[in-house]
Amino acid sequence: MKQKTLLQLAKKHGTPLFIVDHKELRANYARFRKHFPRVQIYYAIKVNSDPHIVETFYKLGGSFDVASMQEFHTVHQLIKKLPAKERQAFIWDRIIYANPIKPVETLRELDRYKPLVTFDNHEEVKKIAKHAPHAGLALRLRVPNTGSMVELSSKFGALPGEAVELIEYAHKHKLVVEGLSFHVGSQCTNPTNFIQAIHLSAGIFAEAKSRGFELKLLDIGGGFPAAYDESVPAFSSLAKKINHEIDRLFPKSIEILAEPGRFLVASAGNAVSKIIGKAFRNEKLCYYVDDGVYHTYSGIIFDHCTYHLKSFQKGPTQICAVFGPTCDALDTISLAEQLPELELDDYLYTENIGAYSAASSTHFNGFPPAQVIHVNR
Ligand SMILES: *Cc1c(COP(=O)(O)O)cnc(C)c1O
Repeated sequence: MKQKTLLQLAKKHGTPLFIVDHKELRANYARFRKHFPRVQIYYAIKVNSDPHIVETFYKLGGSFDVASMQEFHTVHQLIKKLPAKERQAFIWDRIIYANPIKPVETLRELDRYKPLVTFDNHEEVKKIAKHAPHAGLALRLRVPNTGSMVELSSKFGALPGEAVELIEYAHKHKLVVEGLSFHVGSQCTNPTNFIQAIHLSAGIFAEAKSRGFELKLLDIGGGFPAAYDESVPAFSSLAKKINHEIDRLFPKSIEILAEPGRFLVASAGNAVSKIIGKAFRNEKLCYYVDDGVYHTYSGIIFDHCTYHLKSFQKGPTQICAVFGPTCDALDTISLAEQLPELELDDYLYTENIGAYSAASSTHFNGFPPAQVIHVNR
């Protein structure tokens, strides 16, 4: 977004401000569609669950990866508006419940919707068979996460060697495994992760078929990188490699899903904060702003992400520290930002902060999350 617009919005609405640009959301969605024409998009809601963001993707024909009942209802409330006849037929097309571990209470509530859910172990099969016998299953595989900014393989995923046995186990419990899913790790800049995971999946499809189980869908998960800086490889070349491998190994009859999160929303989010304090410590200029790591900058802690702060003013810069408003020393946005000499009430802003940011904002120390403003809806 234009600097000028960000500044105007901050002056109009006050700070801390989190600005979501829906034009950018639509552009990212269109870009994903264009480069993955064979893939149905299931936006991973946890990345930013704002209902307006969900609605924008829904209107574009998007589907959703949900992981809790609250996320489920955020989407389902849009589906409910459809004529009754279409609703049931639609649920798999619009929602995948992609949390491999589900509380019993959740399964009981989900069952009436005949949902598509992921799983990766025997206990979960038993639970689903008992509490959500009408669910369809997707087996989550453990795949290499090498070089991804956020690693996800230590928490979830069946080993490829156990996959077919788990499919059989589900069958014995009168459940049908419809396909496979995986996640290569978030902000994955290493195409090999996708290629290896697609290979592993093709092997399991073949082995399952030889034992009489026909899998119908492949969910290639999330991990598609946002272009935070020039070091991130071009999306088009990543997509080309992935598409080539999918087309080579999976016939057209196999449905391909993806769960992009960061890729769709990172560049659509901007944060503007105000300088509320200024000090010199250890010969360094320190700015204190009204947003921090317990709030919009939470990705510094939870997402292993680094963010840059920019000033609306020009002038000679020096290395500065920028701290959040709470009393915790952990609330440090950066110890080395190139910024000009600024005064109290001046503003700082950060671009590309739409993913894993406002989503994990807290009320720590009595400071509420930044106000959210939607533009170009
Ligand atoms: C978090 C998550 C995603 C989204 O990942 P991104 O790296 O943001 O694209 C997709 N699928 C599952 C199962 C997830 O947990």
